[in-house]
Amino acid sequence: MFEKVLIANRGEIALRINRACKEMGIATVAVHSTADADAMHVRLADESVCIGPPPAAQSYLNIPAIISACEITGAQAIHPGYGFLSENARFAEIVKEHGITFIGPEPKHIRLMGDKIAAKQAARDVGIPTVPGSEGAVGSDEEATRIAADIGYPVLIKASAGGGGRGMKVAHKPADLRLALTTARAEAKTAFANDAVYIEKYLQKPRHIEIQVLADGAGQVVHLGERDCSLQRRHQKVMEEAGSPALNDAQRKDIGGTVTRALEKLGYLGAGTVEFLYEDGRFYFIEMNTRLQVEHPVSEAITGIDIVREQIRIAGGAPLEIKQGDIGFSGHAIECRINAENPYTFLPSPGLITQFHTPGGLGVRFDSAIYAGYRIPPYYDSLAGKLIVHGRSRNECLMRLRRALDEVVVGGIETTIPLFQKLVREHDILDGDYNIHWLEHFLAKKGA
Ligand code: ADP
Repeated sequence: MFEKVLIANRGEIALRINRACKEMGIATVAVHSTADADAMHVRLADESVCIGPPPAAQSYLNIPAIISACEITGAQAIHPGYGFLSENARFAEIVKEHGITFIGPEPKHIRLMGDKIAAKQAARDVGIPTVPGSEGAVGSDEEATRIAADIGYPVLIKASAGGGGRGMKVAHKPADLRLALTTARAEAKTAFANDAVYIEKYLQKPRHIEIQVLADGAGQVVHLGERDCSLQRRHQKVMEEAGSPALNDAQRKDIGGTVTRALEKLGYLGAGTVEFLYEDGRFYFIEMNTRLQVEHPVSEAITGIDIVREQIRIAGGAPLEIKQGDIGFSGHAIECRINAENPYTFLPSPGLITQFHTPGGLGVRFDSAIYAGYRIPPYYDSLAGKLIVHGRSRNECLMRLRRALDEVVVGGIETTIPLFQKLVREHDILDGDYNIHWLEHFLAKKGA
């Protein structure tokens, strides 16, 4: 196993990875921008290296500086966390070329899943159900019109290089199609320098359900059940739960089996998540994330498996110790993404944290890198902490979440906690009766 790992990230996820390393007896190296010199991830790592000025492009995305930090400190492996360089296939290759281990999948799988059209084709080839739509990128508007008529309206135009919901446009009727194509192409070109788009059937009331997998590259693939991430705002996940209120044990086993068999065929290695839309009892592949996800702790809570530890073990060449039959799903877990934002306008609220108290007690986990006296810099995303609550039943979990939310104190900045305090009192949430549009409707009703 590795003696020293460099963590190419910041914030709560850098602390999360640091914890797994410490528990495995591995020394850690933090990297940071000048804006993060006082950050908690720097304080808790064994060593740290400053890799550039505040803008991410010059620091957390600065590949030469990160490779140099590895060479200076003698770190044998890099964990990229999520975001930043975590899904950059070229980065994974460069790391390898320098004789350093990339804690993540093979570059070819990162590249494949980074291209949404290729990913969808690959998924279909290995037996994963996909959304009806165009075979690949659509060329002319005439071709698009034909395909849309074929699959039936409403249709969704999506960017091949998409991410974060950008470059997605709905056309409800034939007359909307041309404008949807033009705006999706323009948005995709600006955001990803690639204006290739494809067409999918627009599902009207789906849930977002994703399957967490671990694969050791030696033929063993296991799944850790599903996460329901239907509560979204602007295609961004806000609150996630494991398991999904919509699935029973048989359905979980079924889709879990489909996904593990598919990833065996692909020869996948490492942790990954296959994301689906789920409507009327059917799953439709939307994408695969070839990295650790923000919401991974809810799966850890119900399985007792440390996903980051498994990522590190797999990268170190160890076979999976756990077999599918050993993985049990115990109780229910919910995560709230506490952002440094106004809870209604969602405008970022960086600044000085004057008071900070974390909730505790049985079944409560708070993953965060903030502390009283810390100033949240304005340069990065606004995730301030994740509250993860586990209970023996969904009901116990919701009651525990309610009281835990009432215990958190974050003074000096605005956070999304008041939104969650409302959500855990809503009938539809208590009943588990929501789809990917529910939160937007709720916010519109509240006049946000
Ligand atoms: P991105 O990579 O930009 O995040 P995804 O393909 O993962 O794009 O889709 C993000 C979100 O967009 C999904 O969680 C879902 O809310 C919505 N979405 C994607 N595809 C469809 C579809 N065919 N029908 C309805 N909603 C969709």
